[in-house]
Amino acid sequence: MRAPRIIVADRDPAVQQTLSWVLREHGYDVRGVVSCLAAVDAAWEFVPDLMLLDAQLLEEGGAAQLTAFKGDPQWADLPVLVTSTRAPEDVVEQALGCGATDVVRKPLRSGELLARIGANLRNRTAFDTTRRQLQSAESALAQAREEAQTGRTLMAIMREVSADLSSEEIYHVLVRRVARAIGLFRCSVVLARPGETTAVIPAAFDDPTLRNMPLDLEKYPEVRVALEAGRPVLIPDMMVHPLFAELRTRWEREGTVVPTRSVIALPFFVDRQQAGVFLLRRGVGEPPLDEEDVAFADAVVKAAVASIQRAHLLESARADNLRLAALAQTDPLTQVLNRRALTDRLTSELDRARRYAHSVAVLMLDLDHFKLVNDTRGHLVGDGVLQDAAEILRSAVRSADFVARYGGEEFVVVLPETSIEGAMVFAERLRECVSVASFAGGPGVSLTLSVSIGVSLFPGPRITSVDDLLAAADAALYRAKRDGRNCVRY
Ligand code: GH3
Ligand code: MG
Ligand code: MG
Repeated sequence: MRAPRIIVADRDPAVQQTLSWVLREHGYDVRGVVSCLAAVDAAWEFVPDLMLLDAQLLEEGGAAQLTAFKGDPQWADLPVLVTSTRAPEDVVEQALGCGATDVVRKPLRSGELLARIGANLRNRTAFDTTRRQLQSAESALAQAREEAQTGRTLMAIMREVSADLSSEEIYHVLVRRVARAIGLFRCSVVLARPGETTAVIPAAFDDPTLRNMPLDLEKYPEVRVALEAGRPVLIPDMMVHPLFAELRTRWEREGTVVPTRSVIALPFFVDRQQAGVFLLRRGVGEPPLDEEDVAFADAVVKAAVASIQRAHLLESARADNLRLAALAQTDPLTQVLNRRALTDRLTSELDRARRYAHSVAVLMLDLDHFKLVNDTRGHLVGDGVLQDAAEILRSAVRSADFVARYGGEEFVVVLPETSIEGAMVFAERLRECVSVASFAGGPGVSLTLSVSIGVSLFPGPRITSVDDLLAAADAALYRAKRDGRNCVRY
């Protein structure tokens, strides 16, 4: 520890030198001067811990000099002891008024002087320590406040994200909330895996309508590096960062004006299929992004990854269920509804028709002499013909209608909210479509076929259920066959 420094100011050089000598003997580092102005000047360069000033020096402008000196925040706490031959009560008012801290009576007794100096220095040290503690408590408080704010923001984001959202919705929430929290206009999610050259943007703050826009990663070295290194990349200034050297040459050559100046690319990994980068950007003239922004965004994204993973699991489970449900309802050969799905759909269609007093028409179709196709061309060709026939039906119906395979070469078409007249016209058109179509009959062979169609309508006489409706269509189909095939009967 260095020796405490004292400036001794006395107009009498002998007194000044004696005092200096005594103090040096007691371990102080002393600078002697003979005027108040010299003491003030010396302070800036000697940086004393205490000043000893003779009261006489406060005359002739010294008081004003001391007042100004002590008014400077750097010296406000410096102990200044005024020595005086006069009674302390005569001097104390003026001395303390100028910013002095104590008055000592002359002639000086070294014991008392040293004790006063020691006390003043201790006070000063205690004062300094307290002030430092106060400052660090204040900055700790400010930091705690800031952390609490960050924590609250994070919690609010996570509450929004943890709701039952799809991953796409989660990305939208994240870009919006991170952009607002950091004060950015450009924040987006880029989905890509390490080593890939194109990415997809599922969400961007500056364009909330954007969905799955492709992105050429050639122009985004920060995204590639973040993905490959698996850690955040902070670019305070693209115009000087080495990562953008090549691009800068290109921008210059092509005369491209780049509005972005500062970038953070924050990688995240959801699972083996899904990885990406949060891209945060600030433009020219905006304050550059810094480590604190990286830390905040990283905390948000890390916390959000669990929700994204959960959303992903839910989505793939949902997709699997949908696939299974579709599989359970579909005829594997023709991809139209199977018979069980037909009964289900028709049941709810009749419920709706009852509720809203609509009618539902059913067409039952049976290919004419289909056995002949199998017998002459083989079963595989027969299968192909069934597929073609299903395709003709599927592409002929409206979106509210549905097609099902009822049996071997029998199909049912259901037409909700359709009158008998409408159904007959539609059935006639279908019959016509089939009769003019050419079916694949094996290599180099095309076949023509015809179809017989029976039509029934709900509600109708003695038609109150799905079974009634199908039986009536079957009966009408039988009449069409009996009447020579390739015709429609009701
Ligand atoms: P029509 O209806 O005009 O009275 O004569 P048809 O020859 O079509 O009549 P039938 O109902 O007797 O024959 C239907 C044939 O459809 C019998 C069967 O071999 C064939 N069939 C049924 N299901 C399939 C299938 O999945 N694939 C193939 N290739 N043939 C099938
Ligand atoms: Mg048939
Ligand atoms: Mg048949």
